[in-house]
Amino acid sequence: MTPDECAECAAASRRRGDLPNYDHFHKVDALPRARRADSRTTLRGYAVGMGGSLPQTWVFFEHLEPALAFGRAGRMSCHDIRSYGVYEAARETRYDRTLKRDVHTLFLAGSSLDRQDDEAQDLQRWLQGCVPGSAYFEPPKRRDRLGM
Ligand SMILES: [Zn+2]
Repeated sequence: MTPDECAECAAASRRRGDLPNYDHFHKVDALPRARRADSRTTLRGYAVGMGGSLPQTWVFFEHLEPALAFGRAGRMSCHDIRSYGVYEAARETRYDRTLKRDVHTLFLAGSSLDRQDDEAQDLQRWLQGCVPGSAYFEPPKRRDRLGM
């Protein structure tokens, strides 16, 4: 199903191509549960939305800390990104037999998680989770348990 055929996307006046990396964008009361199957994978995490002179863009992260750092750093450009928000999210990739390709949907729930009073602690954990030579965020608690 394309966004043009989706009742939720149509209600929000979204059409195919509005977002560069998602076919569907749905605000929901409850996020879908995480699952991995051959035809559908759903990941739970956080999404950063940003806009300004760039087109509206959403980027998904599995951890809150890099999402907060990404949003804040982007906004510090002060020119191309003039607004951002971080939200709890789910990212679904599902194979559509009619379209004969993967369809990507971003689900968003709740209110903005950025610029909270304890954000400095989250950003410190982000820094602790940056490991030289790795593209992944390594949650500090997990690394501590492994003796790293
Ligand atoms: Zn939709």
